[in-house]
Amino acid sequence: MPEKPAIMPPVFRFAPSPNGYLHLGHALSALLNDEMAKAAGGRLLLRIEDIDITRCRPEYEQSIHDDLAWLGIAYERPVRRQSEHTEDYRAALDRLKAIGLVYPAFMSRGEVKRYVADHEAAGRDWPRDPDGAPLYPPIDKASPQAEAAARIAAGDQHVWRLDMAKALAEAGETPSFVETGPACAGTLALDPALWGDVMLWRWDAPSSYHLSVVVDDALQGVTHVVRGLDLFAATPVHRLLQNLLGLPAPVYHHHRLILDTDGRKLSKSQGDTALAALRAAGVSPLDIRRRVGL
Ligand code: GLU
Repeated sequence: MPEKPAIMPPVFRFAPSPNGYLHLGHALSALLNDEMAKAAGGRLLLRIEDIDITRCRPEYEQSIHDDLAWLGIAYERPVRRQSEHTEDYRAALDRLKAIGLVYPAFMSRGEVKRYVADHEAAGRDWPRDPDGAPLYPPIDKASPQAEAAARIAAGDQHVWRLDMAKALAEAGETPSFVETGPACAGTLALDPALWGDVMLWRWDAPSSYHLSVVVDDALQGVTHVVRGLDLFAATPVHRLLQNLLGLPAPVYHHHRLILDTDGRKLSKSQGDTALAALRAAGVSPLDIRRRVGL
């Protein structure tokens, strides 16, 4: 009898950064991941995104586990912690280096600011990314490789950036993705060039959000990325990196954000919506579900 092909269950993940206490927005994300994984007969992973060692703290990480246990969300063990997998991100960066798609960038944030201010003082607008930050000037990209190598050898502080124009030429087309979130469901092909030459490796921390998230989703076999709409705009960059690194594309589902009374996105510095504080104040997990509209 021919062997039946094994059907792999879908894989979902909740991927918070332990740089503050989880709030109601994270509760919505975690609960949706849990519900969707269960409905699809899938697996749920937790990933601790702690590459930014300057801002992440063990007590926040412990609180993530406590909050999820309180909400009744179970996930597989062991839990992947990004800080323990720098070599995976380095391998991906090396691959992009080998095909000439990244370059060392030496301008500090202050230097970029001054460069852009000078440009704008001359009456010319400078492009901004979807988060409002100025695109990185094309200065380093234009300088000879030998010069960059000499600066690196001399110990000049630098990051690694994707050469967006070359990357798009290499990809050949704008990679599309399947979006199932309520705000804009469909097969979407959005332009990653809006972000300019994105940073893929920081000077003060290994890797970057974009590179590590893409590498981990692939290594962990994630098939469904369920996260807040604040990360929707970053998805074209993730799809481009997946394309360049030969990684599979998950299905994306960007959910609504929980806003504060002033209509702003919740932040980890707003203690009153922290799950740990609500729990301590006697709020129940059922109340949390109601407060996030589930
Ligand atoms: N670590 C990111 C955050 O806490 C989420 C990453 C993702 O879901 O892609 O905002």
